Amino acid sequence: MIKPNKNYQNLKDSYLFYNISQKINEYLSENPNKRIYRLGIGDVTLPLCPAVITMLHEAVEDQSLKDRFHGYMPECGADFLREEIRKYYEQRGITLSLEEVFVSSGASDELGDILDLFDKSSSALILEPAYPAYVDANIIAGREIIHLPASKENGFLPEPEDGLKADLIYLCSPNNPTGAVFSKAQLKKWVDFANENQAIILFDAAYEAFIEEESLPHSIFEIEGARTCAVEICSLSKTAGFTGTRLGYTIIPKELFADGINLNTMWMRNRTTKTNGVSYIIQKGGAAVFSPEGQRQIHQNIDVYKNNARILSSALDERNIWYTGGKNAPYIWMKCPDNMSGWEFFDYLLREIQVVGTPGEGFGACGNGYFRFSTFGSTEDTEIAAEKLKELLYRV
Ligand code: PLP
Repeated sequence: MIKPNKNYQNLKDSYLFYNISQKINEYLSENPNKRIYRLGIGDVTLPLCPAVITMLHEAVEDQSLKDRFHGYMPECGADFLREEIRKYYEQRGITLSLEEVFVSSGASDELGDILDLFDKSSSALILEPAYPAYVDANIIAGREIIHLPASKENGFLPEPEDGLKADLIYLCSPNNPTGAVFSKAQLKKWVDFANENQAIILFDAAYEAFIEEESLPHSIFEIEGARTCAVEICSLSKTAGFTGTRLGYTIIPKELFADGINLNTMWMRNRTTKTNGVSYIIQKGGAAVFSPEGQRQIHQNIDVYKNNARILSSALDERNIWYTGGKNAPYIWMKCPDNMSGWEFFDYLLREIQVVGTPGEGFGACGNGYFRFSTFGSTEDTEIAAEKLKELLYRV
């Protein structure tokens, strides 16, 4: 008899976004004339930039012509895109070879699939609050999970503690949900810890393009020693609006070994077995993101989200509310006033000012008492919501 993977039974049902939409629907059915201001959204709202669209059209045209048509693409990515990514890292002083760059269909796919490289007995350290997929992917794999709670005291940027033991270490910087960003010195501590303990860091750089402070690292490979202990997973989803188009990349240095076995070689073997590559059309569109025109255009979109962040942050500053993020990340993570839980604050905002965000509890227990605002909404909604927030928080 076929046996299912019973680890699925250990997953907690994810009621977060379902609960949020239920609450909004209930509110709207009782208050049909009210307008909702949506600052909970984790998806982008601006379209792909013109440079990408032009290239996508050209690539579609290629596929219609006998002498320009492309069939299967190389499993680990087309050289034209790997080269663009290699050059992107080079601008930051990071030297990669093409074989160290793996093109993917997005970070989520990679975060799950990469676990194939590690034995089930290896534990996973998750700094919480965290992007829920880290926890769920490891539950499905039946792996021991070690939770390291972050807090207001450490600015939601915890460092390795004495006695900590872990084999896989998830680091997400800039962070979803907290918007906090590790400094080079803080990341160096994690790199040293990983090298000393023969652990591997899985560095999620999905929000690197939002960093504006010069001194902050965009990549774990800006840190000395990372080539022997880290994998970097990145995505064009938030950088360039590819959430529905799907493209990402993973960097695995050739010096990366686990118990004497080379992880770059293993991943190449994995990809050649489990994928037939990302579509030619999408890879062409992705390559356009790295062109000078593409970079200028995606940063125009990012600036719109950053402007939303400034509008929200200044409202919180005016009301002396404690928060992280907003400056180098598209999320703002605030402490709820009056010791409210995240869900209490959610209900309060919906009822009083029709502003919707995400309760911190959705990202792990230590998110209780916090609330996440996303800056991916429309500027108009953000402006109105900020005014309403200022008015409301004056009262609490
Ligand atoms: N990593 C983090 C931290 C995210 O917040 C997200 C999406 O919200 C992803 C990865 C997934 O990105 P992708 O769309 O490339 O699968």
